[in-house]
Amino acid sequence: MTDATTLPLRNPRTGQSDGQLPITAAAEVAALGAGLRQAQSTWAERSIEERCTRLDALADALAARRDGFLDALLADTGRWHESVIEVDGTIGAIRRWAQQAPACLEDAAPVEEAITFIHSQQTWVPYAVVGVISPWNFPLMLTLIDAVPALAAGCTILAKPSEVTSRFVPLLREALDTAGLGEVFKLVTGAGGTGQAVIEAADQICFTGSVATGRKVGEACARRFIPASLELGGKDPALVLSDANIEHAARALAWGSFVNGGQSCMSIERVYVEAPVAEAFIAALVEEASALELAWPDPKQGQIGPVIAASQVELVRAQLADAKAKGARALTGGELVDHGGVWCPPTVLVDVTDDMAVVAEESFASVLPVMVVADEAEAIARANATEFGLSAAVFTQSPERAQRVARQLQAGGISINDACLTGMVQTAEKQSFKLSGMGGSRMGTASIRRFVRARALLINTGIASPWWFPAA
Ligand code: NDP
Repeated sequence: MTDATTLPLRNPRTGQSDGQLPITAAAEVAALGAGLRQAQSTWAERSIEERCTRLDALADALAARRDGFLDALLADTGRWHESVIEVDGTIGAIRRWAQQAPACLEDAAPVEEAITFIHSQQTWVPYAVVGVISPWNFPLMLTLIDAVPALAAGCTILAKPSEVTSRFVPLLREALDTAGLGEVFKLVTGAGGTGQAVIEAADQICFTGSVATGRKVGEACARRFIPASLELGGKDPALVLSDANIEHAARALAWGSFVNGGQSCMSIERVYVEAPVAEAFIAALVEEASALELAWPDPKQGQIGPVIAASQVELVRAQLADAKAKGARALTGGELVDHGGVWCPPTVLVDVTDDMAVVAEESFASVLPVMVVADEAEAIARANATEFGLSAAVFTQSPERAQRVARQLQAGGISINDACLTGMVQTAEKQSFKLSGMGGSRMGTASIRRFVRARALLINTGIASPWWFPAA
């Protein structure tokens, strides 16, 4: 039974409610924020090496609880293979941040300025409390992708994962305690109201989620004059050019569009293929898509898990109905499958037009509309004709053409002859364009620098400055 202090937990494989999630009250979120602010100065005074040692301990604590995290993610998301990648990838990423951070945050030695008797020294000051609000598609990774670099920088963390996928929270608390991080990293649970309370309690916000909620979060942060890093939705295009290796492109795009049932921000959601290779490409893509199987009844067999969030089911159903009503044809898939929970079989759509919701709006499902274009210029123009700008992909065997086309795409990460590399490669910096977000890069050294403010120490080495008033 649900009361005002809990929310029902839903199993996406069965569609049944099978547990309760406590809602952290706003007053408690505020108290946790105040406690973190107090704890932060001690945390920031520790050397960066000491902080990173604790992060390594967190990676160990996660590894020791790997099976428990997998069970929690399977229960919340209904998918197995992606959960294995998520847990192992998160552990690896924590170790990488711990290794990278010391070099990113060293205070520089004083250097002589253009005014030679003045020396300047660059130092870094962490924000005290970083609030992290994360979505349901990669619940563990997208909570820690901001939290861990911020901890390395000397911040404390107040995190609220999505209400849809919070079953890992007790286990993460346990791991944080084991790693000696329990006092500087607090997790709260609940829905939007709890997220709002996090914004009120924090000094900086990292939000991952939809454009609509991101806008509310950005506005709330602006009112408080605190920085907001917003990582929002996408409608990533792939361009298959006439000289592409067609088999290679079809395989890459089947993975890039259908992995995690398309429920990834950097999922490929539109393909523009040049006319001379369109027929061969579509046939190859359909062959790849048709070979994929629903991971049902055994989550470890098959590649496609269920639609995770109940709220997504109607959105996907409506997009498919709209597309069909306007003349689209599904060459494979095309109908949702109800096993209690709902599955979206890999769906390749052709005869699609720009006025269809499935082309214009984020689907976040294993649905891939393919559009035939006359030439490279049309492919680029239509790929850019969107309010989103997260990432994109280009397929061509000509390195010069790849460079020329990639540099014209309005997105922060472009995979060349592959798809969704921005989710796999964490060193190259990238930012979101257009409504896909704002703020510093989550990748590369900027991922850590986002959490500090630059403070300059400006040192007069002992000479009367010539601009002073004459001596009295
Ligand atoms: P939502 O925007 O619905 O929710 C994101 C988080 O915000 C959740 O924790 C949610 O809580 C919380 N929230 C809701 N309302 C408020 C509010 N008023 N103030 C503060 N917090 C609030 O996104 P989804 O969870 O549905 O995630 C899917 C979206 O995330 C897709 O658009 C996808 O593209 C995007 N995404 C972007 C990524 C990127 O890196 N760019 C990566 C992954 C996903 P609750 O869920 O409890 O309501």
